[in-house]
Amino acid sequence: MLVAVLLAAVLLGGCSEDESAESAGQPSESVVTAPAAEIAEPPTENNPPEPIASAAPAHSAADGADAPYGLGMPALEPLPAPQPAEQEPPEQSPEVAPAASDEAEALPRLGIIIDDVGNSRSAGERIIALPAPVALAIMPFTRNAQALATLAAEAGKPVMLHLPMENLAGLAIGEGGLSTRMSRADFEAQLQASLNAFTPVQGVNNHMGSKLTADRERMDWLMTQLAARQLFFVDSRTTKETQAAFAAQAAGVPSVSRDVFLDNERTQVELDREFRLALERARKQGAAVLIGHPYPETLAFLERQLPGLEMREGVRLVSVQALLRQPH
Ligand SMILES: [Zn+2]
Repeated sequence: MLVAVLLAAVLLGGCSEDESAESAGQPSESVVTAPAAEIAEPPTENNPPEPIASAAPAHSAADGADAPYGLGMPALEPLPAPQPAEQEPPEQSPEVAPAASDEAEALPRLGIIIDDVGNSRSAGERIIALPAPVALAIMPFTRNAQALATLAAEAGKPVMLHLPMENLAGLAIGEGGLSTRMSRADFEAQLQASLNAFTPVQGVNNHMGSKLTADRERMDWLMTQLAARQLFFVDSRTTKETQAAFAAQAAGVPSVSRDVFLDNERTQVELDREFRLALERARKQGAAVLIGHPYPETLAFLERQLPGLEMREGVRLVSVQALLRQPH
């Protein structure tokens, strides 16, 4: 298990040059109170994962990310028997693990994060109710931030701070945001305020941030604070110039980068296309990180897709923490 986690983390980690730039921005939700969403790659872009020099040979398969996707089902590995081996004798040593469990551990893994949470309580509750460890990335100082963080933690779901950061388009980032214009003292004070806005916070990812995440010095300021709090970081990758993962590694912060945005387009066709892309990435890389937003269309899509996903697709839904690349 540990080996698998580390391998997947290595395969996923790092950051690259091939990310599409954050574009001009669009409203995050039809809900008027919602923050603007990060903008991701055009639907046609595949964002191949960045190769890592020291990665295991298996990664070579991941470099061919241009393969067509979304049309029909890729050939699947045989599915493991779903029955848990409840009957294992109590005297057995841990080394004699049930075969079904071993096979499940070897499945490609998908971690899902829903960003921009905190304004709508009902949307947050729908995320928490999803049959998977989907992370809530909660905006600081939103109306339902604390209530949803509490509910999510009680349900065993990952809770993250969705930290607003300055973007190249000059879009408003909301309360608690960080910008390149701040002095280090102001930057750190604002960061601490956002980290303290609700509890628990297990990790952080960036809301927007196409300008700030490209600033290595400020990413170093950020990661130093996250390291002190033993938090992890997920780079939403809103710019190909992002320095966040480098800074995280340097500061000793476990991190992983977003592979796919689920809902830049909210039609069924596009949601399905991006979801398929995420599954394909998970199969090629061993694991993938998918980020969505609390749009009604997205939530309804996940409510349909997640039940029974492992049986249908041979991809295991895991918490984002299970996909973190540990620092050297
Ligand atoms: Zn966001």
